[in-house]
Amino acid sequence: MTQTLLYTGKAKSLYTTDNPDQLLCIFRNDTSAFDGQRIEKLERKGMVNNFFNAFIMETLNKAGIPNHFVKRHSEEASIVKKLTMIPVECVVRNVAAGSLCRRLGVSAGLELNPPTFEFFLKNDELHDPMVNDSLILTFNWASQKDIDQMKKYAFAVNDVLKKLFLEAGLILVDYKLEFGHYHGELILGDEFSPDGCRIWDAETKKVLDKDRFRKEMGDVVEAYEEVAIRLGVKLPQVA
Ligand code: ADP
Ligand code: UDP
Repeated sequence: MTQTLLYTGKAKSLYTTDNPDQLLCIFRNDTSAFDGQRIEKLERKGMVNNFFNAFIMETLNKAGIPNHFVKRHSEEASIVKKLTMIPVECVVRNVAAGSLCRRLGVSAGLELNPPTFEFFLKNDELHDPMVNDSLILTFNWASQKDIDQMKKYAFAVNDVLKKLFLEAGLILVDYKLEFGHYHGELILGDEFSPDGCRIWDAETKKVLDKDRFRKEMGDVVEAYEEVAIRLGVKLPQVA
C-alpha cells in the first residue's frame, strides 16, 4: 500500500492508500489538552482508542448512523472513507461539565433534560469559539441541510450510546462529533473515544475520560481501558 502523509493532527495521522476514496487513520499515543498547549505521549492510548472507535463506529453503523469507518487495519490504525470535513464540532451534553459550567455558571453534574446541542468552530488558534446556525450559513461552513442532518445524527448517536453506556454502568456525560461529505453524502467522521467525550461511573461518578489527563488525575489509559472492557470491546492481551 503506497502511503503519503496527508494530515497530521494532535492525536491522529491520516495517510493516503491505494484507494483514492479511503485513508489510513493512525491513532497516535499523543494526548493534548487546552487546544494543543499541553501534549504528552501516553503508552497504549493509540491502540485503545483505535479499538474503542472501531467498536463504537460499528455499533452506530448497525443502528443506521452512516460513518466513515471501513475496517480496523492494525492495532493502531483503521481504514476510513476520505471525507471533506465540515470545520465545526458538534457537542451533545446529557450532564453539565467542562465549558458549559464555565460559561453558564451551572454546577457540574446537573442533569440536562432535554440534552443540549452546541456547534464550535474547529480552530485551535481561536480556541474553538462557539458558533450557531446563522454564522455557519453566512461563512459557508455548511448548508442548512447539513446543519439539520448533523443535529439529527448527533441526537441519534445519543439515543444509541447513552443506553449502551448505561447498560455498562456508565454515564455518557457529553461528546464531540465531526461530520464530513463522502461523494455528496453527509456522514459521521473523525473518532468516538474517551479522548472526545466524558464518561463517569454511574455509581461512584469516577471520571473515566480525558478529564483525567486535563486535570492530571493519573491512570488515563487505564480508565479508557476500563470503559472499553465494560462496554465489551475486545482489546489485545498485554504481552
Ligand atoms: P485535530 O485536527 O483536532 O488535531 P486529530 O489529530 O484527531 O485532530 O486529526 C484528525 C483530523 O482528521 C481532524 O482534523 C479531522 O477533522 C480529520 N478527519 C477525521 N476523519 C476524517 C476523514 N474520514 N477524512 C478526512 N479527514 C478526516
Ligand atoms: N471536545 C473535544 N474536542 C474539543 C473540544 C471539546 O473532543 O476541541 C469534547 C470534550 O472532550 C467533551 C465535550 O467535547 O467531551 C465538551 O467539551 P467542552 O465544551 O466542555 O470543553 P472543554 O471542557 O473540553 O474545554
